[in-house]
Amino acid sequence: MFDKNKKPGFTTDGIKMLDTYSDASSKKFLIEQVTRTARIALKNLVKKGLLPWPMVYSKEFWNVAVTEDFSSIVGMKQYVNQLSEEALQEFIDEADDILVDVKDTVEEFVQVAKDHVKDVKTSLKSMDKKDEDRLFFNDIERLRQKNRDLEKKARQTEDKVRQQALTIEDLRSKVRVDGLTGLLNRRALEGDLQKELSKIKRYNYPLSLIMCDIDFFKKVNDTYGHSVGDKVLKNLASIWKKSVRDTDSVYRYGGEEFVIIAPHTKKKEGFNLAERLRKRVSTYRFVIRPPDEYITITISVGISEARPGDSIIEVINRVDKALYMAKEAGRNRTMVL
Ligand code: GH3
Ligand code: MG
Ligand code: MG
Repeated sequence: MFDKNKKPGFTTDGIKMLDTYSDASSKKFLIEQVTRTARIALKNLVKKGLLPWPMVYSKEFWNVAVTEDFSSIVGMKQYVNQLSEEALQEFIDEADDILVDVKDTVEEFVQVAKDHVKDVKTSLKSMDKKDEDRLFFNDIERLRQKNRDLEKKARQTEDKVRQQALTIEDLRSKVRVDGLTGLLNRRALEGDLQKELSKIKRYNYPLSLIMCDIDFFKKVNDTYGHSVGDKVLKNLASIWKKSVRDTDSVYRYGGEEFVIIAPHTKKKEGFNLAERLRKRVSTYRFVIRPPDEYITITISVGISEARPGDSIIEVINRVDKALYMAKEAGRNRTMVL
């Protein structure tokens, strides 16, 4: 560990002291800090019962994982391609916590490294002033260079953590997004709806849930082919995006089913929104062969207002039932429950 009081020095074996100080001791100090950082981060992960996303962590983490015999974690690195959906989701759900832990430990490391650099700089400055130190000029220069290297390394470590934070952020948004339409996916819906339900229970504001399903969509695929069907789904996604408020969120719930969460929206307003969407879709010309070959489609819609205390299942079941009623009643209509 770096000793602030131990100044490189002025004795007859000063050269030897400088050597030891700048090489072995600094190196040992760095290794100790990195190992400690890795150990704390690993301990936090294991304590939380989490298997980390193997690509995120640097070499030092794996060194510690191997020496500490965290065999499940080591195994994860080897079988990374077999990472299950649930394991990935679990990691993503906890990504914020993990990131904060990793950031904390690395920031701590960077801070200690920076302090170290500052201390050495101060020592070097004070040595510069003394005539005797001319004797050690080369050693001082060498030490100064090492110090600059360490400073650079601390900066690089900071950059790396920032980069890792972006990777996690990117990963998290990727697992929330539907590949075809770019809308949020069902996984995102489940997480977001849970949060919204907790909020309405606490703050007691209205929230409407809307579920839409394309009528006879199978026929579109059968008649025009799957790629035209895909195009219709994509166009529909842009209609949704243009038609809802910024505070509303649209999800692709299943193949040709979509869900909208509309916070601060009473049942009546939710119904109006649903009808506006339904009418917009029914008059929209979905171009299947430019410039002028198009088809039209209709949707059936179910809507329900969430009640404080509702579980996800309860509110989804209700809105699903409303949608089913709309289908049963002849399609191309909105039903409220
Ligand atoms: P209904 O009015 O009762 O909803 O009739 P439907 O034909 O829409 O319902 P059904 O559930 O029988 O069929 C849904 C169709 O949606 C079947 C499937 O081929 C199509 N589908 C689901 N996902 C996709 C997709 O990603 N792309 C395309 N092109 N079609 C999809
Ligand atoms: Mg369907
Ligand atoms: Mg359908």
